[in-house]
Amino acid sequence: EYSLGPKVSDWDSQRQEWLSRHPEFPSRDARGNPKVLLVTGSPPGPCDNPAGDHYLLKAIKNKIDYCRLHGMDIVHNMAHLDPELTGYWSKIPLVRRLMLAHPEVEWIWWMDSDAIFTDMAFELPFSRYEGRNLVVHGYPDLLFEKRSWISLNAGIFLLRNCQWSLDLLDAWVPMGPRGPSRIEAGKLLTASLSGRPPFEADDQSVLIHLLLIQKDKWMEKVQIETEFYLHGFWTGLVDRYEQMMEEHHPGLGDDRWPFITHFVGCKTCGRYEDYPLERCLRGMERAFNFADNQVLRLYGFQHRSLVSAKVRRVTDPRANPLEAKEAALKMDAKFQRV
Ligand code: UDP
Ligand code: MN
Repeated sequence: EYSLGPKVSDWDSQRQEWLSRHPEFPSRDARGNPKVLLVTGSPPGPCDNPAGDHYLLKAIKNKIDYCRLHGMDIVHNMAHLDPELTGYWSKIPLVRRLMLAHPEVEWIWWMDSDAIFTDMAFELPFSRYEGRNLVVHGYPDLLFEKRSWISLNAGIFLLRNCQWSLDLLDAWVPMGPRGPSRIEAGKLLTASLSGRPPFEADDQSVLIHLLLIQKDKWMEKVQIETEFYLHGFWTGLVDRYEQMMEEHHPGLGDDRWPFITHFVGCKTCGRYEDYPLERCLRGMERAFNFADNQVLRLYGFQHRSLVSAKVRRVTDPRANPLEAKEAALKMDAKFQRV
């Protein structure tokens, strides 16, 4: 059977031992938060259309901005580390390699390239995740009652750097290798999950399937996030940003000001998509500018509108820069959700 590499079975003690020998690599940051590595990726070659590459650039800029503002490191991978695990499966060997290569990192945070941070002030509630090893957005009733193939979204998830997670990746991957095993597994998944169209095995369906058939083994350590949009489906969000700006403020992360807007079904870099390309690109432009306004505000600028790349100045350039900074920090503190 296929394997991700030589089995690692005592990672927790190996990791602890390494950390104690390397105090120069603390697993917590200066604020006491666990060290988090944001990981994303895109195909090794150019997109089928140049607009796809432009939006990949905007999407990585957005993630760099979020990481800078919150003191996190970021990885953008473009290599297929395992020739068997291409496309959406490529994140599995990548996440595993990063865990083993960065024992100082407590959480690996995978985020699809087509997901945009739209609340630049929101921070993950890590204290709620103590005792949990996998955090993923979803709907528990759709998962356990409906067995729906969209009950969880595997485009964004956090995995704790521990043995449990390595075991989960081992259990997740057998349906992934391309060719007959992926195609056959796709048939099984379509038969067992509700609403799933016929296609080869995808990582999201396999995760759902695994949690359903081995519920007792895994669920105790899984946090299904329902309180904010760790994944927010784009179609219901992208036309409401102006209204959100009128009525709410950053830092909420939920339907009032979504943390992440994810362009599921768009495939702007590839060929096939469920939604018209124009509609996807327009939505992405709006999500990007909505988020970018929250960044540009720090430097005294705003987009002229959510569909414009042009910016205008919003603060008096003669104002004392450090006084303006203090005011901005006070605003941020006020908007932090506690
Ligand atoms: N991805 C990658 N390399 C590839 C293909 C995909 O790193 O060759 C990443 C990319 O971040 C993408 C995610 O895997 O967002 C999920 O892949 P999928 O094909 O589902 O793309 P999406 O619909 O999210 O654009
Ligand atoms: Mn996606």
